[in-house]
Amino acid sequence: MSLSIRPLRGAFAGEVSGVDITAPLDGADVAAIEAGMDAYAVLVFHDQRLTDEQQIAFTLNFGELESYKTPGHIRKGEDQRLGPGIADFSNLDRHGQIMSVEDRVWFFKLGDRLWHSDSSFRPAPAKYSLLSGRVIPSWGANTEFADMRGAYDALDARTRAEVASLICEHSLIYSRETIGFVDLTAEEIAAFAPVRHPLVRRHPVTGRPSLFLSAHAGAIVGWTVPEARIFLRDLTEHATQRELVYSHAWKPGDLVMWDNRATMHRARRFDYREVRDVRRTTLAGTPPIPGT
Ligand code: MN
Repeated sequence: MSLSIRPLRGAFAGEVSGVDITAPLDGADVAAIEAGMDAYAVLVFHDQRLTDEQQIAFTLNFGELESYKTPGHIRKGEDQRLGPGIADFSNLDRHGQIMSVEDRVWFFKLGDRLWHSDSSFRPAPAKYSLLSGRVIPSWGANTEFADMRGAYDALDARTRAEVASLICEHSLIYSRETIGFVDLTAEEIAAFAPVRHPLVRRHPVTGRPSLFLSAHAGAIVGWTVPEARIFLRDLTEHATQRELVYSHAWKPGDLVMWDNRATMHRARRFDYREVRDVRRTTLAGTPPIPGT
């Protein structure tokens, strides 16, 4: 059976069948998946019971793993449950127990429920993220994706002209501040210093412009903070209207990969007393290409 992709939401999000991603892929399948990513920006694979090693091996077909000296989270190295190369997006502590909802690591994780683009707080934000569903709660816990190419295309002419030259500042401090988590150490604040990115970016392969929004964006260069925050909030509301959103209802064994250069996403609520074990591999990106 050969690889095929069924559209899930018009030109946004596709469901891939006819491929076993737990095994090494041939070049034609890798090329088909890359072309699918450029077309749909989000791809869903079902019934892929990946080990961490298999997930990393599949990910490496599409680039290099993201790796940084400063982490994108506040969990200390010795508290990690998983090995190198794979990030823990579960609600489990390093002993495999459900973490306390009063744990500051949990507070920090709740920031992922705001619309964002992975690693937008880094000078070279992530290319693809790949999330593997291992244990899924009985209710909720969807991941939602918004098409930022469609969001750009749907702007009115005046707003499109206005955003074209704007530069935003992104930091984990801004997204955590939005949910009232301001209890960061001096060391964390230093590690999360803001970086600047264009508000409109051009996709390096397709050339399509998209809005580069994220909960991490908390300032616009040359604007007052309140003016910037309210404008970014308006743009985010525009970009996440339901016509532009695919909501993924997880089943164990699903793998969803998305292109952070063309999408935003957010996690949805679930019962914190149930286990959610999802694991992410992330591909290194390059600094965004500004302009339309
Ligand atoms: Mn994320």
